[in-house]
Amino acid sequence: MPSAPLDRATTQFSVAFGGTPDGIWSAPGRVNLIGEHTDYNGGLALPIALPQRTFAAVRIRPDKVLRMSSDGMPGGPVTIPLADVRAGSPGGWAAYVAGVFWALSEAGYAVPGADVAVASSVPVGAGLSSSAALECAVGAALSDLAGLELLGTSGGRTELASACQRAENDIAGAPTGGMDQLASMLGRRGHALLLDCRDATTEAVPFDLAAHGLALLVIDTRAPHALVDGQYAARRHTCQAAATTLGVRSLREVRPQDLAGALGRLPDEVARRRVRHVVTEIVRVGSFVDAVRAGDWAAAGRLMAASHESLRDDYEVSCPELDLAVDTALGAGALGARMTGGGFGGCAIALVSADHAVQVEADVAGAFASAGFRAPEAFVATASRGAGRDRFGG
Ligand code: ADP
Ligand code: MG
Repeated sequence: MPSAPLDRATTQFSVAFGGTPDGIWSAPGRVNLIGEHTDYNGGLALPIALPQRTFAAVRIRPDKVLRMSSDGMPGGPVTIPLADVRAGSPGGWAAYVAGVFWALSEAGYAVPGADVAVASSVPVGAGLSSSAALECAVGAALSDLAGLELLGTSGGRTELASACQRAENDIAGAPTGGMDQLASMLGRRGHALLLDCRDATTEAVPFDLAAHGLALLVIDTRAPHALVDGQYAARRHTCQAAATTLGVRSLREVRPQDLAGALGRLPDEVARRRVRHVVTEIVRVGSFVDAVRAGDWAAAGRLMAASHESLRDDYEVSCPELDLAVDTALGAGALGARMTGGGFGGCAIALVSADHAVQVEADVAGAFASAGFRAPEAFVATASRGAGRDRFGG
């Protein structure tokens, strides 16, 4: 059996740097139940934190130098003075770590140098937010080791999430919204997290599917996705331009009852489709939360399917693998299914009765084989805890 990532982080630390870390911190990946491409439009989203986590073994250094090593990445440690961290420096995966040091320093905190060793069970590049898991594990470590005391309150955690988002946007150069980091920082066991990205407020919504005989199946299509490419940025740009045309700060300010009028004022069909997705998706999040609270799982499933259609047809961020996973899951009796994450690959989710999950998984695998796609990988996800300290000392 492969060893747990906590142990691997410890081993990685001693191999890369020698000795033991001051402690080990971890943060989860996330999967979004509904509310896609809404975060950067000031909208609503409803992620859960995953059981899969990224672990950071960290030791403070007396100088202002950062050394970083990950057992998921080839090559020796990446070394950089804190003063040299800026957009594109360091390049590659180390930007997600160094960016957190930079962002907390920019926020006015006294940030020390450190040795950081990373190991993870979050699939990388699958749309389950391994990037935020990495940032938030490092952010949690820094909060404790530099005495920032941001982990104790939800306000402090929100501030850490914001620093992690800046790391990803400004240093790693990925223009993502804030959902991933908020989910990883504020996730709660047995709960989904209702995020209002207009003001970064959050509300925990009980989400214990097992208690209702249900399960959330996450299907990694293993189709490649890359958020750093132009598609994501293009969607953001179209939304911002549409908001400007409509005279609002963000598309969140377009009220659903005003949607038809707003669409009539947009210059082209592409912008109309994008805005229609965002405005209707925000409504679907509210309806989904109502359905979950009422235990109306059939209604929740229908909203997931509607979300997928909107992402596929209006937002145009799906792909053949995602569509096949969703259609097959629905055909196999799932209550609902949709792509999740930024799109163009990554994962789909299906809401299924617990005793049916294995069958749905098998049907999707069969459909992928028939279509000549890479074999997908699936697991049942439960809502787990957010970032925190796992161990003091090595
Ligand atoms: P996702 O967040 O959906 O997994 P991203 O493209 O946003 O995909 O982030 C993936 C990138 O984050 C990786 O290419 C790598 O640079 C960095 N990363 C994530 N997890 C790790 C890890 N365990 N070790 C090193 N780098 C990681
Ligand atoms: Mg990511």
